[in-house]
Amino acid sequence: MTALDKIKKITEFLRSCGIEDAHKESEIIVTHALKIDRTVLYRDNPVISKKNAKGIDVVLQRRAKREPLQYILGYVEFCGLKIKVGKGVLIPRPETELLEEEVIKAVTRNTLHVTEKTQNSLHITPHALHIIDLCTGSGCLALAIAKHFPDADVYGTDISKDAIRYANENARLNNIANVSFLKGSLFEPLKQIMFSDVQSFKFDVIVSNPPYIRSTDMPNLQPEINKWEPRNALDGGEDGLNYYRTIFSEAQKYLTPPCPPLRRGGWGGGVIFLEIGEGQAAEVSGIAMQNGFGNISVIKDYAGIERIIAARAL
Ligand code: GLN
Repeated sequence: MTALDKIKKITEFLRSCGIEDAHKESEIIVTHALKIDRTVLYRDNPVISKKNAKGIDVVLQRRAKREPLQYILGYVEFCGLKIKVGKGVLIPRPETELLEEEVIKAVTRNTLHVTEKTQNSLHITPHALHIIDLCTGSGCLALAIAKHFPDADVYGTDISKDAIRYANENARLNNIANVSFLKGSLFEPLKQIMFSDVQSFKFDVIVSNPPYIRSTDMPNLQPEINKWEPRNALDGGEDGLNYYRTIFSEAQKYLTPPCPPLRRGGWGGGVIFLEIGEGQAAEVSGIAMQNGFGNISVIKDYAGIERIIAARAL
């Protein structure tokens, strides 16, 4: 059978399993099995060997059980990095790439500021930027940020052992050395380290895509998410906001102070960037303000949904 005939058959099969993007997925499955790209697929329409047909069948059996295609293929692309994923770790979402972009913009703005001040002032050494990604999961955000700022010290924490294993592996696969992944909930892993070295564990940027789905909405998610992805990466408690409460109530302690000492070279104080769920902007802004944060801005994603909240410790 030729590749294009196979794609037709697979599309029908996936559709019968209730899968929405059946045609696109069929193309991905076939090109992945044949190790060719789409151009070659449509130009050559190769015949599928028995071995490749078997490989495709294995993928289809798994996909019929609504296992996410990303888990079956084993990788996703995130901000140009190849991120390994599988059972036990949240699949990076395209909208989270926006969070990385916003952090990079903010850090770049502030680092330029640091450099200018440094030139005009005496004895100022700009410190290496400290950035932490809470609920790091596969490590995608921490890694993309660390890759962009090779001189920064980036940390990622996650309560899940599986997540930390994937994150470390993704650091190795992408050759990124300026990241440390620590196992534990939110700021917990820092508490032990802080005793020994308090200063170095203040952060210029805290970033996170925490679980934010309401517990009662969990059963309504599509089976790929609800049956396969880790619940503890998605469920944000009764109103979906539990993690924002904890993060904002603790974040002040871990952010670089708003009136930075001279040696910090003019950095305007720590900033926090969080991904939020649809319709959560007002409530999360409220939580930020109650905890002494200001300069709050809300950034929309490409679908026009309020997706990121940025705030500064006042
Ligand atoms: N954006 C994810 C989803 O819609 C949720 C991720 C999260 O809770 N942080 O499935």
